[in-house]
Amino acid sequence: MSNITVCVRFRPLSLKEKRVHGDSVCIMCSDAESFVFKDEKEEDLPFCFDRVFYQDSAQADVYEFLALPIVQDTVKGLNGTIITYGQTGAGKTYSMEGLGILDCDENKKGLLPRVVDGIFECIKSSPEHSNCTVKLSMVEIYMEKVRDLFDLSKDNIQIKENKSQGIMLSGTTEMSILNPAEALKFLFRGISNRAVGETQMNVSSSRSHCVYMFSIQQESALDKRVKSGKLILVDLAGSEKVEKTGAEGRVLEEAKNINKSLSSLGNVINALTNGRGNHIPYRDSKLTRILQDSLGGNSRTALLCCCSPSSSNASESLSTLRFGTRTK
Ligand code: ADP
Ligand code: MG
Repeated sequence: MSNITVCVRFRPLSLKEKRVHGDSVCIMCSDAESFVFKDEKEEDLPFCFDRVFYQDSAQADVYEFLALPIVQDTVKGLNGTIITYGQTGAGKTYSMEGLGILDCDENKKGLLPRVVDGIFECIKSSPEHSNCTVKLSMVEIYMEKVRDLFDLSKDNIQIKENKSQGIMLSGTTEMSILNPAEALKFLFRGISNRAVGETQMNVSSSRSHCVYMFSIQQESALDKRVKSGKLILVDLAGSEKVEKTGAEGRVLEEAKNINKSLSSLGNVINALTNGRGNHIPYRDSKLTRILQDSLGGNSRTALLCCCSPSSSNASESLSTLRFGTRTK
């Protein structure tokens, strides 16, 4: 299926990786689509994806390759999803937000601020631009519970489906946004609230999925028909395996929940890619249920598999690459 784009991004070695493990890197670049990965047994494994972004890649290139075509589609009334996957520290949030959502360094801006600019630019050049509304909701999924990041008191949002609107998050706060600056202000609020929730519950944000949902509606001046598109970005919980020995109580429960939702995401994408009219197990997790009408069908999906390039993280990187390969 050509509706899903799977890319890999390697971040630069961190100072810690250099200091503790030396600068040994487990990948050899072949070209823009392929590389050779040296696993823990020093075996060379070839990998191929739609695009590989190496350590020196620019945020703008990542946006242009995997997000811009989806932004253009959603302004035309289709749905789309952009997902970052990988172990904690692999570069998911850097790719999504940049160094900080309000950081003004043009080069470091992540996908979200670029998506926001892209949405408003596409709207400007659309014939229906005068009757257009853009709305933003943000939720977090933790232990299979959905929490509204614009109103932390709504901590058990239900996912419903109706004929006209498709999948919806019942009662979630929607912020109407008129321009990119306003969007950034709301994104900043949601992200800050996430940190508040984290402290209140003493939970790390790396253990929950963060979902950013833009809805774009345009009414035609001619026949009053409404086109609506939905663009969902997901910064997933860390995919790392939790030490089986020693993990207990909440840590173990968190790990089980993350595992379950990441594998159900893999199963859904896999069923969409390979299946012919087979059953798609959207209902297996809150994550896939929320994405139900934004994955498959006419929707376009981009998956960015984020990895450390360090040999010391080879086993987690390999498991991320295998997840990516399985969804192709
Ligand atoms: P994750 O969200 O996957 O846990 P982060 O995005 O927080 O990981 O990245 C971990 C650290 O690495 C952060 O300090 C981040 O700024 C840095 N980093 C990640 N990707 C890049 C990159 N492509 N270029 C420069 N620094 C990066
Ligand atoms: Mg993160």
